[in-house]
Amino acid sequence: MSIQLENVSYTYGVGTPFEKTALRNVTMEISSGDFVGIIGHTGSGKSTLVQMLNGLLHPTMGQVTVNGMDIRQKSKAAMDMRHKVGMVFQYPEYQLFEETVAKDIAFGPRNMGLTEEEIEQRVKEAMEFVHLDYEEYGNRSPFRLSGGQMRRVAIAGVIAIHPEYLILDEPSAGLDPVGREEIFSEVQRWHEEKNITVILVSHNMEDISRLANRLIVLDHSEIILDGEPLEIFAKQQDLLHRAGVSVPPVTEVLQYLQGRGLPVEDRVRTVEE
Ligand code: ADP
Repeated sequence: MSIQLENVSYTYGVGTPFEKTALRNVTMEISSGDFVGIIGHTGSGKSTLVQMLNGLLHPTMGQVTVNGMDIRQKSKAAMDMRHKVGMVFQYPEYQLFEETVAKDIAFGPRNMGLTEEEIEQRVKEAMEFVHLDYEEYGNRSPFRLSGGQMRRVAIAGVIAIHPEYLILDEPSAGLDPVGREEIFSEVQRWHEEKNITVILVSHNMEDISRLANRLIVLDHSEIILDGEPLEIFAKQQDLLHRAGVSVPPVTEVLQYLQGRGLPVEDRVRTVEE
């Protein structure tokens, strides 16, 4: 199972004076079980890339397939496949709109033709996953929660769809360290316990180095690096610098991981080879 991109390019405003190629000739595969970090300077094409993974944007050239299916088709099977790719946008709390937390989380499942019982079950399960008590918060207005709680409601809404692939675009932007930690420990748990494939767009190299097993670096609409994060940090400083990405020295990253009791042995070996 995987998401595959074959010679994918995307151009905004084709045929207008504002024509802009945001992605050029990208071929790659994201396999089930991956935890992929995506970095690149502003305007390098990150958002365009992730919006093509779930069919929000269709390639101008090339093809995107999810588990072997071309998601451009209008068939029910293709729509169902698109539901397997959940997307949490930047500042997802701006997309909350229902009068209660439970109704907001139920929105996605409700559009999937599930029974009321199944919908309620999904809402409860998704709230449990983001550590929001159903009894306490289910009937509250999402707009009266803290910023971190609102974001968790928005993420629960995506989780309730039961995605196989979860795309997160800067999920910790604007949150304090505690809020950040909460979100990332949850994401890591979904990845490990539910075997969800995660695609994380982030500026935070510490988050990427501790969570992702693969790093993709975009520069001027192209993928310039694709590999193990610490190995890239250690060996590709020049290219990263040219791509406008600043990374901490690898020794600092390793110290950071060790300081948190995270396993580094395998990674140190990759870096030293
Ligand atoms: P990133 O997420 O890395 O900041 P984007 O994918 O948002 O990059 O943008 C890539 C390029 O496409 C940028 O040059 C940006 O200005 C351009 N772009 C993004 N969205 C649009 C749009 N809706 N119309 C025209 N150009 C766009």
